[in-house]
Amino acid sequence: MAEKGKIIILSAPSGTGKSTIIGKLMEMPELRLGFSISATSRPPRGKEQNGREYYFLTPEEFDRRIEDNRFVEWEEVYAGTKYGTLVEEVERVTGSGHNLIMDIDVKGALNVKRKYGEDALSIFILPPSLEVLEKRLRGRNTDSEESIRKRIEKAEQEISYSPQFDKNVVNAELDKAVSDVKNIISGFIE
Ligand code: ADP
Ligand code: 5GP
Repeated sequence: MAEKGKIIILSAPSGTGKSTIIGKLMEMPELRLGFSISATSRPPRGKEQNGREYYFLTPEEFDRRIEDNRFVEWEEVYAGTKYGTLVEEVERVTGSGHNLIMDIDVKGALNVKRKYGEDALSIFILPPSLEVLEKRLRGRNTDSEESIRKRIEKAEQEISYSPQFDKNVVNAELDKAVSDVKNIISGFIE
């Protein structure tokens, strides 16, 4: 049987560039990554597809899964919007010998790290500044003004958790950030 994969947790304020970095890491076969598709109670944004970026559930479907203990962790990341990692998703990816890469919020990240200990590596990606973060959120062209405001407000609080992560990486120049994260992951999975 294939050896069970390890868990890599990436967290960052929304708009920092996590999805962009994860996309590049997923193209590196030597890292053997499998993306953990979370469930969310929010509707799809832009070109997002069910079962690719997220499992899109109605708020009722999400709550039923909470009651049925189907989540490894879940958080109400934004008021009225829940996100969570399903037990079966962790098993699907790690069971196939892939290393599971998770894009989850800071509280979820610290909970997963606590749960999996040495089998998990937590990485916090920092934006170069809050001004740059706001610019990236606007440049992405997918979020409403209200959603951008909520995300910026939350960023400062999220950054205050960064010292609790195993590693911190600043995403200033994209290629450099990707290479830093890649080297950290390589060291961990060796
Ligand atoms: P997140 O997944 O953290 O919410 P995204 O990956 O969607 O963030 O990135 C937000 C926006 O910033 C995107 O438009 C992306 O192309 C851009 N971006 C990501 N990294 C950089 C970087 N190093 N320099 C400039 N723009 C970046
Ligand atoms: P977005 O709406 O921009 O896709 O994601 C918003 C936030 O939800 C991001 O900070 C992301 O890391 C977080 N998130 C996505 N999936 C999960 C999850 O399964 N659990 C937790 N705790 N947070 C998640």
